[in-house]
Amino acid sequence: MGMTVDHCGLAPRWRLALLDLDGTLYRGDVPVAGAGEFVERLRKHGVQPVFFTNNATRTPQQVAERLQAMGIKATPQEVCTAAQAAAHWLRQQVGIGSVVAFIGMEGLREALVEEGLQPVHVRDLGDRAALTVRAAAMGLDRHVTYADLAKFCKIVIRLGRFVLTNPDLALPSADGVEPGNGSFGRLVQLVTGVEPTVTGKPEPYFVEYALRRFAALAQETFIVGDNPRTDIAAGRRAGIYTIRVLTGLSEEAGSDLPEPDSVVRSVADLFLDETQG
Ligand SMILES: [Mg+2]
Repeated sequence: MGMTVDHCGLAPRWRLALLDLDGTLYRGDVPVAGAGEFVERLRKHGVQPVFFTNNATRTPQQVAERLQAMGIKATPQEVCTAAQAAAHWLRQQVGIGSVVAFIGMEGLREALVEEGLQPVHVRDLGDRAALTVRAAAMGLDRHVTYADLAKFCKIVIRLGRFVLTNPDLALPSADGVEPGNGSFGRLVQLVTGVEPTVTGKPEPYFVEYALRRFAALAQETFIVGDNPRTDIAAGRRAGIYTIRVLTGLSEEAGSDLPEPDSVVRSVADLFLDETQG
């Protein structure tokens, strides 16, 4: 059963669509049926699609290539990652040129460079250089070691703060779950007693960052995602229209879950009012 975004409420004219990736446009390596056509429908109606992901490991180029490989047209400029939001927040806090110690992969390193910061992975950080560090950032790092975590904790204790790109505790994998960035963030918090600043979903900062970057208003913007605790929560807290799809996370019940403005089975069922644009 189809549903138009206009018929489920709010603005007469949408300009920006924040699209979750895993569970919304694809599942693992398989695109959701009709996802590519949905993204093209948005473009045809003058709505800018933004590929809006908590995954901080990949660069925008890598995210766009992954989407393209699944038949979903995307450019790196249309990708918005929690790593980019973290880097933007850090630049505002500590200023261009600051040395940022990080645990993470290429997605976070590149985002920090793009904001004019000087990222140094903790494993490459000597004791003297550690004294010049102005900020600490943590994203998922599939090669992280005990020595990396120990050094990072020492820096966090000295600074009294750190940024966590996203709080996802576990990630779905082909054969179960794997540790997400949030579980490593909890570890650092337990050891240091320092609570992180989170920049990814469900924090509204991530949505606000996207609105500024794409010069759109909250009332012109909607978010589509499968996860009530991250996608829908972030959208609600930032005051944008929220649409839940059922192609990702298995049904989770609970009265504490944030309620979306509307629910559709899949993005294939989501249409914009044909009178628009
Ligand atoms: Mg998802």
